[in-house]
Amino acid sequence: MSATDDGDDPFNAFVTRCRVGGGDGMLSDLSIGVKDNISTEDVETTCASQVLEGYVPPYDATAVKRLKDAGASIVGKTNLDEFGMGSTTETSAYGATRNPVDPERVPGGSSGGSAAAVAAGEVDAALGTDTGGSVRCPAAFCGVVGYKPTYGLVSRYGLIAYANSLECIGPIADDVETVGRVLDVIAGEDHRDGTCNLEAGDLASAAREPVELGGLSVAVPEELVGDGVDPDVEAEFERAVDVLKSEGASVDRVSMPSLERALAAYYVIAMGEASSNLARFDGVRYGPGGGDGDWNESFSSARAGFGDEVKRRVMLGTFALSEGYHDEYYDKAQQARELVRRDFHRVFEDADVVASPTMPVTAFELGEALDDPLEMYQMDVNTVPVNLAGVPSVSVPAGDVDGLPVGLQLTAAKNRDAELLSTAAAFEEAWS
Ligand code: GLN
Repeated sequence: MSATDDGDDPFNAFVTRCRVGGGDGMLSDLSIGVKDNISTEDVETTCASQVLEGYVPPYDATAVKRLKDAGASIVGKTNLDEFGMGSTTETSAYGATRNPVDPERVPGGSSGGSAAAVAAGEVDAALGTDTGGSVRCPAAFCGVVGYKPTYGLVSRYGLIAYANSLECIGPIADDVETVGRVLDVIAGEDHRDGTCNLEAGDLASAAREPVELGGLSVAVPEELVGDGVDPDVEAEFERAVDVLKSEGASVDRVSMPSLERALAAYYVIAMGEASSNLARFDGVRYGPGGGDGDWNESFSSARAGFGDEVKRRVMLGTFALSEGYHDEYYDKAQQARELVRRDFHRVFEDADVVASPTMPVTAFELGEALDDPLEMYQMDVNTVPVNLAGVPSVSVPAGDVDGLPVGLQLTAAKNRDAELLSTAAAFEEAWS
């Protein structure tokens, strides 16, 4: 099966259509899209990169295998920013995905194909991957629910790595209940991924049982609202906070000073890991053969197929890890990461969840952010701290600005995924 420009795919949500799985099981009623950086046996998996065009994995990622075993039908591989690097799904080698809410706008990214396919009703649910917000951002921009689990809850085996210490596979669907059902199936220990060692519990039931909001304590960090957040988005967020309060939740404004450093730390770490993970696309192990010539020439010609954003990150990441600069950049970023972890830990001593707008803005127009990578990186300010800390987080639809969806981001302490799903379900109910 190969990458298609499918006439039945008005939003360009899919890179490849397929039909695998389906049968008896807990998810036999669901059609599912799988982000195209997650390996699917016998179905082309491109990471939306020219470099992997024609690559057909001989095995399924653990998450995909579990979906198939549960009877889900996998109907396509969804579009993404090349290798998951971006927040708009415009850096795909297969063209940008459009936002079903407004086709002149981006769906968010990098799992934009997954969120668009759900929002357009083309699938019941989709898998995305979230390294710094790539499940929550497109969920927010397309008006659907996106869930990033605790790091270590869902196996990364078969996920083609971008930044392995940060990324997680997570589901996107129209409602919290469906997200919980998919998560329940894909979560849980896997001996093929040494970091995946958490007991999952009954997440499907948790998502079906809203918590009593009257007993909930919510923290709102001042660093994630105010400056840099569009005033209309902030007004919608405050409306969501009012709904939580009117249901009896207590809401405290808190400070998490480390968050000011989180974005810079995230990009240094993510690019460093990317430069190392993408070294395997050398034309020998993976990627198009580099042809004749000496090793350096062959290696660089194999890598010429990467797009500009991927090249930028590989170069910056290599720089940040190199001798002489390592202490100044990478080590400092790791120190900042530790401070972010501690700040979350401290806040969760008193609060059940941290709330903020998922994205500081609504979906922007196609092409708007492409020329200015720094501006695009800035958009991730509210989502990346969660990945640095490894905690679970969900984006739930909470209103709109001029018809463009706004997401409420709720984040919980490590391994409190069941509680977070029940909280998201309660908010969803209270909001509607
Ligand atoms: N936008 C962020 C980045 O480009 C997040 C991407 C992701 O979560 N895969 O790194």
